[in-house]
Amino acid sequence: MKYQKEFLVDLTQAIAPAGQESAVQNLYTNYVKQFADNIDKTRLGSVIAQKKGESDLKIMLAGHADEISLIVSHIDSDGFIYFKEMGGFDAVLLPGMRVNIHHDGKIRKGVIGRAPKHLLGDDNSVKSKNLWVDIAVASKEEALEHVALGDIITWSGELEHLTEDIMISKTFDNRVGVYVCARVLEELKSVKTHCSVYAVSNVQEEVGASGARTASYIIKPDIAIAIDVTFAIDHPDTSIKDSADVKLGKGPAITMGSRINAKLFKHIKSIADKEEIPYQIEIYPSRTGTDLDAIFSENAGAAGLLISIPCRYMHSPNEMVSWSDIENTVKLITAFIISIKDESLINL
Ligand SMILES: [Zn+2]
Repeated sequence: MKYQKEFLVDLTQAIAPAGQESAVQNLYTNYVKQFADNIDKTRLGSVIAQKKGESDLKIMLAGHADEISLIVSHIDSDGFIYFKEMGGFDAVLLPGMRVNIHHDGKIRKGVIGRAPKHLLGDDNSVKSKNLWVDIAVASKEEALEHVALGDIITWSGELEHLTEDIMISKTFDNRVGVYVCARVLEELKSVKTHCSVYAVSNVQEEVGASGARTASYIIKPDIAIAIDVTFAIDHPDTSIKDSADVKLGKGPAITMGSRINAKLFKHIKSIADKEEIPYQIEIYPSRTGTDLDAIFSENAGAAGLLISIPCRYMHSPNEMVSWSDIENTVKLITAFIISIKDESLINL
């Protein structure tokens, strides 16, 4: 498991804001080239690694490479840097954070500033437009030596283990999905499959899933499996009424809802039972908020599945996941692909 774990660590440390995902895509390409029959890159940058099967049936696996990030939008006369959000941020999590500004291949460190509560009085709600990055310079001119409009700002911090199984990182959403795509291809390397497998590291999910949409336009998959993180709610202040009963370390979450193929949902549960892989169920009646939303209705449509890795504190600087959940996701999807021998399961 050593080199696989190192691959996951490298993926989480790479910087890949929406629209500039090449650092993750290069890592992905380097890993999958050992197992893929063919690798393509779309114009937007999604990387498609193909394993040829014995039939024309196509399964697309979709993880996404991009991470939520901030983008420099204004520098004031005193050198304080203002930003906009690329992806869904909770502004409350921003003040006081250490961040990296990525400028011409160099990193300038900074802190997200906000006036102390003592000085703010009653109106102290947090909005990102009232926050700034402080890089300790005295003027706009000095700031411009290190930063430019359009530079990307990311959280600072490395993957760490809290226990042998539980890890935290700023980018598990969705480097775990990219990791699973690569690992499934690795597990299938000496297996003959009925279907061709297209394991795709998509771009631009956090800002609208255009990477997945355009990749699926090229692939035209019969079956699409999106792999993403989902909300683990086994912590305070959450309710089963707001989400599904998903916990860390209890296995991948298998989604059911209108965008999921009902026969495949039943089938993948039976595979998990047979292989003794733990799993949990979650429900998305319509929109899933993942790449599946774009893929399932592209072209002539794809029979959809969504398999998610439980994650506490999604879209925070410390997203928390379980290593065993990730590896069980790899096992489940690998066994599912091997089990598909004809088209009977995808025709409703
Ligand atoms: Zn996300």
